[in-house]
Amino acid sequence: MLRTIDHFIGGSTFASGERQGEVFNPSQGQVQASVRLGTAADLQKAVDAANAALPGWAATNPQRRARVMFNYKALVEANMQELAELLASEHGKVVADAKGDIQRGLEVIEFACGIPHALKGEYTQGAGPGIDVYSMRQPLGIVCGITPFNFPAMIPMWMFGVAIACGNAFILKPSERDPSVPVRLAELMKEAGLPDGILNVVHGDKEMVDAILDHDDIRAISFVGSSDIAHYIYSRGTANGKRVQAFGGAKNHGIVMPDADLDQVVNDLAGAAFGSAGERCMALPVVVPVGDRTADALRERLVPAIEGLRVGISTDPEAHYGPVVNAAHKKRVEDWIQTCADEGGELVVDGRGFTLQGHEEGFFVGPTLFDHVKPHFRSYQEEIFGPVLQMVRAPDFETAVRLPSEHQYGNGVAIFTRNGHAAREFAARVNVGMVGINVPIPVPVAYHTFGGWKRSGFGDINQHGMEGVRFWTKTKTITQRWPDGNADVGDMGAFHIPTMG
Ligand code: NAD
Repeated sequence: MLRTIDHFIGGSTFASGERQGEVFNPSQGQVQASVRLGTAADLQKAVDAANAALPGWAATNPQRRARVMFNYKALVEANMQELAELLASEHGKVVADAKGDIQRGLEVIEFACGIPHALKGEYTQGAGPGIDVYSMRQPLGIVCGITPFNFPAMIPMWMFGVAIACGNAFILKPSERDPSVPVRLAELMKEAGLPDGILNVVHGDKEMVDAILDHDDIRAISFVGSSDIAHYIYSRGTANGKRVQAFGGAKNHGIVMPDADLDQVVNDLAGAAFGSAGERCMALPVVVPVGDRTADALRERLVPAIEGLRVGISTDPEAHYGPVVNAAHKKRVEDWIQTCADEGGELVVDGRGFTLQGHEEGFFVGPTLFDHVKPHFRSYQEEIFGPVLQMVRAPDFETAVRLPSEHQYGNGVAIFTRNGHAAREFAARVNVGMVGINVPIPVPVAYHTFGGWKRSGFGDINQHGMEGVRFWTKTKTITQRWPDGNADVGDMGAFHIPTMG
């Protein structure tokens, strides 16, 4: 009998709905659970629970809200091993990497512990005669997060950590491919002291997402996933009058300058291109060596490093990475490998047809390296989201700046160099949202903000940090005057727009 993963609404599990989806164990290639695929009626139940809880939570002072976050941090840490194993069993990433997924989310919870400070408004005393001006940040109400499969802990925590600390009620619609950890995260919030109804989890696919997009009581939506869906969420959500931020796919480039420390680069690239089977929006699936000498020297070092990678089941402590998420995605990645070869890429290491003894049904793809990939290849222009590294040789620095700048995606980029001037120029000129200088995966820390450009991000406000606080609140500005009662009433009656003189 398969375990069923239910919704979590109003502080309890909620079983409803005929339709269910399969949740796999990618290491074994077998279905291990089923998940409810909810409807508009299920969403309404979550909205009702949120509406009931919202006034009390919005009126709770920020310090008390922060205390829930402190409790939560301790609880998630205490449950780290169980959460990481559960996450790895549904996603396929190795357990150590799953701990990183949780830890990066917890760092946003740590930021949320400081919410009293972050919510402080501005104040101007004496903006005019006897007049003071101040601003306050107020919660939006019921808000929602729709998240992808590849970071089932970090991305939900990015969103609900800040949104809840700001005084909102939150409805999370996690990926239906690995939905267990999001539910556990919500249960732990209840244990941490969060009132029932402030964090709800509804499962589902397009039907549930469309219900969210069209629900009048939902004031804001944060989305992370692939670009076409991100664009759809942004368009329909904003057309319905909601505040929306929608982050999409990526194709991040790693520029290798001739003066780079190649041993370090190979080490960094191996982790950034193949870690988590390449299923990271901040992975580095494209390497751009500048000059053929750099390219040849890099390739010579890369090949043995790639051939030495250990692919294993998610509980193998020695494995560098595990399977991809499901059979359809494995086929998609292998099809892209074929496409790139057909387009004229030189297939240096071929990861297709990889099987692991004892786990023959697992969704594994071996590490793959292409050289001589050209910018007009479709396989270069699109996101593959697998353990595939494409080398695009650039004749000079200008080309290396142009390639990521002109690509349809603009999430992250890295440059490897010892030349501070080149790095500085690159960082200033490249048309991409997040830049690493000798840092292969430049995911900003929680108190800065995360967000890509072009088709990697729709909307204006980034995730977490102070941008997160701005996204999850609305600003009210108050202009006040307290007359002493002796004022000449004639002074008050001006018909022109008041100025401060
Ligand atoms: P996805 O777009 O398939 O799914 C994301 C969410 O959208 C899920 O909750 C899913 O249920 C929902 N969804 C799927 N199809 C839908 C449809 N037709 N209508 C409405 N909703 C739908 O993405 P994924 O495969 O889960 O995640 C991988 C993608 O996410 C990659 O493209 C990756 O680059 C991207 N990603 C981006 C970032 C970022 O910060 N930019 C971070 C992580 C992942």
